[in-house]
Amino acid sequence: MRYISTRGQAPVLTFEEAMLTGLARDGGLYVPETIPTMTESQIAGLAGLSYEEIAFRVMRPFVGDSFSDDDFAGAISRAYKSFGHDARAPLVQLAPNHFLLELFHGPTLAFKDFAMQLIGQLFELSLTRRSERVTIVGATSGDTGSAAIEAFRGLDAVDVFILFPSGRVSEVQRRQMTTPEEANVHALAMAGDFDDCQAKLKDMFNDFAFRDEVRLAGVNSINWARVLAQVVYYFSAAVSLGAPHRPVSFTVPTGNFGDIFAGYIAKRMGLPIEKLVIATNQNDILHRALTTGSYATSGVIPSISPSMDIQVSSNFERALFDAYGRDGGAVAQVMEDLKSGGGFSISQGALQALRETFASGRASEQETNATIRSMFGRTGEILCPHSAVGVKVAEDHLGTIPMITLATAHPAKFPDAVEAATGYRPPLPNRMSDLYVRPERVTEVANDLVTLENLIKERRSR
Ligand SMILES: *Cc1c(COP(=O)(O)O)cnc(C)c1O
Repeated sequence: MRYISTRGQAPVLTFEEAMLTGLARDGGLYVPETIPTMTESQIAGLAGLSYEEIAFRVMRPFVGDSFSDDDFAGAISRAYKSFGHDARAPLVQLAPNHFLLELFHGPTLAFKDFAMQLIGQLFELSLTRRSERVTIVGATSGDTGSAAIEAFRGLDAVDVFILFPSGRVSEVQRRQMTTPEEANVHALAMAGDFDDCQAKLKDMFNDFAFRDEVRLAGVNSINWARVLAQVVYYFSAAVSLGAPHRPVSFTVPTGNFGDIFAGYIAKRMGLPIEKLVIATNQNDILHRALTTGSYATSGVIPSISPSMDIQVSSNFERALFDAYGRDGGAVAQVMEDLKSGGGFSISQGALQALRETFASGRASEQETNATIRSMFGRTGEILCPHSAVGVKVAEDHLGTIPMITLATAHPAKFPDAVEAATGYRPPLPNRMSDLYVRPERVTEVANDLVTLENLIKERRSR
């Protein structure tokens, strides 16, 4: 299994190399050269298996020779054993044909644990046998950072630096990043918004001298291994509802397009997914792009679903690559237009291709709030604001095919928004109830590349 860049100019890599590298050297994102498929009977054979077993069968073909069967199965089993639910990704029913996929039972209470816990295990296996160490730098709107820190804290071969927008993450998110005591964990609060953090991260990757000196590795949702780990729960959920004999649709609260792109991969592998519905908050660039064909940035407006407060959706490039017939030159061109002019128009052919798979909708702040309140009243289910964006948009797309909405975070991660909507303040699960009393450790940094690079060079252990 080989991996190629969406911009066509970077070296072809194995799964392990693509995982350790993150962003390709031509600025593109790695994607599999071909997508392996599963037959109807292979998909039917997943019914009733454990999450771990489904994970092994779905992901194995993408890994190639990078890990042995035993190593890969061991990594999967260690990745999910700290989850607070035996099903790992349980489905609950909201309405006759509407289901909620709870992806928040991991150690940091958001779906990002599914990918990050696995990546932590795979990095450890890989670096140990290569006798290497790396510096992981991630940018986060809140949940990626806490999930990465939880996955890499205390590992010998890794320093982890997380950039988050100062003052723009929830208290639970911040504390999950600032309270771990391990010396290899560094939480950096940067002046600016998430797009600023993400831009600085990209600049570091494009500074090849720095990148090579500190052996920079990325675990943002651009990392292919993360996308792959998220493909699994599309299979587990669809099979629970009768796939491959019955098709399903998914609605996905979307920011960087990683989670929903995993659904697209599941569909390409043969899972009968009718529609993948992109759900955005008021930062609705993806919804506008699908509706009008024009991808135009307009600045982030902070919302009650902060993990989706994003304008530049990195993983959308992967969807564009396929929509443009895997023409790396065309992708490089539109990305250049985005960088120089703040936007681009999607070609007619590409737009048509995207619309065959994806639908879209947006939820305003009031609609999100009203959805949290009404779901609590109608079903007793307490939604986090991101999941509520998904549920609202899904309700506008219900039909005869079962709809599965992804619940991306636990309501206790965003207690203020939930309390404002319902009057009820959701408590943290017992296993993390000391979070509010542990001391915090954080460094405030300016939005400046040289300052950041010097800080990382100084702080990392050698
Ligand atoms: C990261 C995140 C999202 C957005 O996911 P993408 O893969 O970036 O589209 C939505 N909800 C929550 C709670 C998140 O942490």
